[in-house]
Amino acid sequence: MTTVTFRIEGVVQGVGFRPFVFRLALRHGVAGWVRNDSEGVTVEARGNTDALDCFEHALVDDAPAAARIVSLRRERVVAGGIGGAFAIAASAPADAVSAFISPDLAVCDDCRREMSDPTDRRFAYPFINCTNCGPRYSIIQALPYDRPNTTMRGFTMCEACEAEYRDPLHRRFHAQPNACQECGPSVALWARDGTEQARDAHAIRGTADALRAGAVVAMKGLGGFHLMADARSDAAVSLLRQRKRREEKPLAVMYPSLDMACRDCVVDEAEAAALTSPWAPIALLRRRDGHDGVSDHVAPGSSTLGVMLPYTPLHGLLADDIGFPVVATSGNLSEEPICIDEREAVMRLGDIADVFLVHDRPIARQVDDSVVRVFRGGTTVLRAGRGYAPFSIDLGRQAPPVLAVGPHMKNTIAVSSGDKAFVGQHIGTLDTPQALEAYRRAHKDLASLYAHEPVAVARDLHPDYASTAYAAGVGAPTVAVQHHYAHVLSCMAEHRLAGPVLGVAWDGTGHGDDGTVWGGEFLVATRDGYERVAHLRPFRLPGGDTAAREPRRSAVGLLHAAYGDGAFAMRGLPSVAAFSQAERRVVGQMLARGVNAPLTSSAGRLFDGFASLVGLKQRVAFEGQAAMMLEQAIGPTAPDESYEYEYDAATGVLDWSPMLRCAVADVTGSVATSEIAGRYHNTLVAMIVTVARSVGIDDIVLTGGCFQNAYLTEGAVNALEAAGMQPHWHCRVPPNDGGVALGQLMAGIAQMEGCD
Ligand code: ZN
Ligand code: ZN
Ligand code: FE
Repeated sequence: MTTVTFRIEGVVQGVGFRPFVFRLALRHGVAGWVRNDSEGVTVEARGNTDALDCFEHALVDDAPAAARIVSLRRERVVAGGIGGAFAIAASAPADAVSAFISPDLAVCDDCRREMSDPTDRRFAYPFINCTNCGPRYSIIQALPYDRPNTTMRGFTMCEACEAEYRDPLHRRFHAQPNACQECGPSVALWARDGTEQARDAHAIRGTADALRAGAVVAMKGLGGFHLMADARSDAAVSLLRQRKRREEKPLAVMYPSLDMACRDCVVDEAEAAALTSPWAPIALLRRRDGHDGVSDHVAPGSSTLGVMLPYTPLHGLLADDIGFPVVATSGNLSEEPICIDEREAVMRLGDIADVFLVHDRPIARQVDDSVVRVFRGGTTVLRAGRGYAPFSIDLGRQAPPVLAVGPHMKNTIAVSSGDKAFVGQHIGTLDTPQALEAYRRAHKDLASLYAHEPVAVARDLHPDYASTAYAAGVGAPTVAVQHHYAHVLSCMAEHRLAGPVLGVAWDGTGHGDDGTVWGGEFLVATRDGYERVAHLRPFRLPGGDTAAREPRRSAVGLLHAAYGDGAFAMRGLPSVAAFSQAERRVVGQMLARGVNAPLTSSAGRLFDGFASLVGLKQRVAFEGQAAMMLEQAIGPTAPDESYEYEYDAATGVLDWSPMLRCAVADVTGSVATSEIAGRYHNTLVAMIVTVARSVGIDDIVLTGGCFQNAYLTEGAVNALEAAGMQPHWHCRVPPNDGGVALGQLMAGIAQMEGCD
């Protein structure tokens, strides 16, 4: 006999790990115990060496689908000991909380089966769950994760549920949200004024009927309300858009099944795996030509579609009833946070939705749907919400407790605790009072979950962000972190790179340390600091912030830099033609005098300028729209050619003006837009390789919102690898501003460590 202790860290709590270990021990004839503690799970196992080896392998290989093991250490080996039983021991008290909080998990196959079995006591029960699936983060009010600390505490388990909950061999052993129709939450259908129309199965039937009739439905889901409408119907989708005041931004679609999604979209293996995973995100898929099961109003002019599958039992029951795809977008007015409470929803969404499908399980915090995109066979998270947040990054050392308040757009918050960094869920743009309130709540929430008292607060260098003002009020010293350095640090943290790396940080906007607007940066970075070694040639943005909404302004800024005042004579160009004569005079003066026309090196604005130049878009309805259209304009067969550009290694200026001149000639020469868009992207890839070669660092980090672009990212990765370098791109941490809080946190930690 040998006694061994296994220390297992990762997402191992709230995912059925202890019952799994228990069953495994029985199978392998191993004695001992398993328990949760503040860092994960500890197993003490006694048995013969062969049995222990098999047991150890099975711990990793057969772990529950929703578990994510980060490390397994065999800590102590003592010869001897006696056999005996295996037990699930009481949890060790939480001291320094660094256990991972499990995210919400999509309904599992076992629960699905029971739900559709008419003889099962949970037949058609919309809140069925087990230790492998169901709500977690969206119901947790405090740690440790036990029922009295969740929003399920108001529901007392019936005898049958209680028996399952106490049976170590049962799939629902310690399933905290365990419930059935006898004892658990239930659904109701409300009219838009909040009066009840129907309950239970009748409520779901009524909701399905409303969707079939073309109504807009507000449905209380897992982490907030969804607004839904028949995705096949032009009228229903337009009605939703008009009421939600969302004009062009693509809407996500929930398909009843993967098969149905595959009819409208190309779904590869990695995308199918993501869609059907316990995290069940929205995946951005390429639409099939001529197989359109959804209205053109869902994602106007876009060759991609955001697709998800029903992930709660309630969504599943509704999807089974209707059998067609529905738009499922967050329940809010544009740019406001998602609604989580049914009474509040009636107030805020009463003008948008015709009926409300609600339930009485409270939502502890907003959790939006996550968005992923597949690059080179792996997923990259573009928005970390349900299933992906909170997520943690192993720091590899004990770090001081720091709070990072995030940037302005796509805001998230991050904290360090013990040897981990925790990043919270997507909050959004901090523009409205509601968003700021949600932001304040998210901070309080993270602070109390992790009992966090920061010794420093990391924030963006930008003086006017709402998050910057917030940081000042927290009551700890603040550390200002340059935006693009934070982007680079976030990707370094994800891949545990100490540097030096060459960070290619390309996005729309960030406050530069010279006071200009940055966004096309090459930074040589370590954990302690950075040097800006290269950047796109700066150009002026006439009208400042307005330019972000009007790609034509970026275009004339570029043209003016290359051609001077002669730019405005080029009336044949769509960008110039998009201005009236009076506007041309005003904008021309801004550029000539440099008044209200700040300098920028932004790659995002370069994308805007080229999208305008080829006539794709002169005014955008949402951030990143023009860049998205330029990427999609490439079409299925991309050209090999690229344009000229110049790089001056002495000044680090990467000059796009030769490319602009070539593109102008192509536009006037009626070269196809797909061709120009392809050449443009190829040129950017070549620029990255040129700078990387000249800097001579092999680890290249690709980060910033521009790298949500699959053509650019894959092109750069392939070219850098071909040149013998080691590219790194984002996977779990979003490349866009959703990752910035983590980068700020890393800089804040380094600063505090430098102080001792
Ligand atoms: Zn389940
Ligand atoms: Zn029950
Ligand atoms: Fe950014």
